[in-house]
Amino acid sequence: MELPYLEPLTIRPLADPVIPEPPRRGEPGGEPCGICTHQATPAVWENEHFTLHPPVHGSLPGAVWLASKEHVDSFKDLSREAAAAFGPLIARVEQAILGLGGVGRVHLYRWGDGGAHFHVWLLPRPLGMLQASGAMLPIWEDVLPNVTDEELADAARRIAAAL
Ligand SMILES: [Zn+2]
Repeated sequence: MELPYLEPLTIRPLADPVIPEPPRRGEPGGEPCGICTHQATPAVWENEHFTLHPPVHGSLPGAVWLASKEHVDSFKDLSREAAAAFGPLIARVEQAILGLGGVGRVHLYRWGDGGAHFHVWLLPRPLGMLQASGAMLPIWEDVLPNVTDEELADAARRIAAAL
C-alpha cells in the first residue's frame, strides 16, 4: 500500500495533547447532532435500528455510511437489540456493495471523532487498486477526483435495493 503522495514527506511535530477534548457534534456543549437534526444526506434505506446513507463530495461510488436510529455514541452504547442486529446487517451491506461489481474488498471504518452519533463507514476498494490497500483507502478517497453526488446516491440506492 502506498500513500497518494510522492516522497519526501516530512513528519510534522506532535502537538501537545488537548485535554479535556472539545465537545463533538451531538455532545453537550457541542454543535447539534447532524443526524438527529436531519442535516445529513437522506437515508436510502432503514430498518428498525439503522439507516443507510450515501456520502456527498466523494470519489468512491458504493461508499455508504450506516447510522443507528438511537442517538448513542459507540458500540458499547447501542441497545442490545441494535448491537445484535449490527453484524448480520453489515454482512448484507458488504455483499450488496460487492454486488455493484468492480470492488476488490469492502472496508469498514468507525472513527467517531467528528460526531457523537454512532455511525460506521463502508468504503469499496476498487478492484485492482492495491495502492489503496488497508488504511490508505480513505486517504486515496480524499485525493481522487470526486464523482457527482447523484452518482454516489445512485450507487447507494442500488445497494439499498439489494438489502
Ligand atoms: Zn444524533
